[in-house]
Amino acid sequence: MEEISCIFCQIANGNAQAKIVYQDNDVIAFLDINPLAPGHTLVIPKKHIQNVFEMDDDLLHHIFTVAKQIAENMRKNLGAEGVNFLQSNGEAAEQSVFHFHLHIIPRWKNDGLDFTEYSRTKIKKMRNEELEKIAKIIEIKSDKETRSEEEIYSIKRELEIG
Ligand code: 5GP
Ligand code: ZN
Repeated sequence: MEEISCIFCQIANGNAQAKIVYQDNDVIAFLDINPLAPGHTLVIPKKHIQNVFEMDDDLLHHIFTVAKQIAENMRKNLGAEGVNFLQSNGEAAEQSVFHFHLHIIPRWKNDGLDFTEYSRTKIKKMRNEELEKIAKIIEIKSDKETRSEEEIYSIKRELEIG
């Protein structure tokens, strides 16, 4: 059902138009309809996968490999001086189309885009001990070695997260 109403599924199936930059059996890349810069491209899986949490690791790897090649073409052929990769997951992260997509945005010095906006909305500078605690609850640990629910709860409460 989702697939029928999803605009990116329609593009992947050839039922909606897009300026295609690359495609294979699993992945398609096309120009963003409302670009932040000329050449702004989206790379998506052809299958309807909502976000990174539902994404298979091999497919994610493939998407980034394709994105790197497109970024290289932007540099070589478009003369881009830099490239931003942007990828949003969930409403809270301002995802607006709920079919996984990786933005590739070519950049030039003084191009007028302001990706440093985030630095103005940054929460207060964190103290060293606070940074240490956050790192502890998101660090990747082995299966055997997990942090207890209580420990995580108490750190989150101390730091007023969530
Ligand atoms: P998000 O905000 O979810 O990270 O990005 C969604 C992106 O999809 C936006 O940059 C938007 O311009 C683009 N987009 C939305 N609808 C269409 C469409 O129908 N065709 C194309 N090519 N891009 C779209
Ligand atoms: Zn879809």
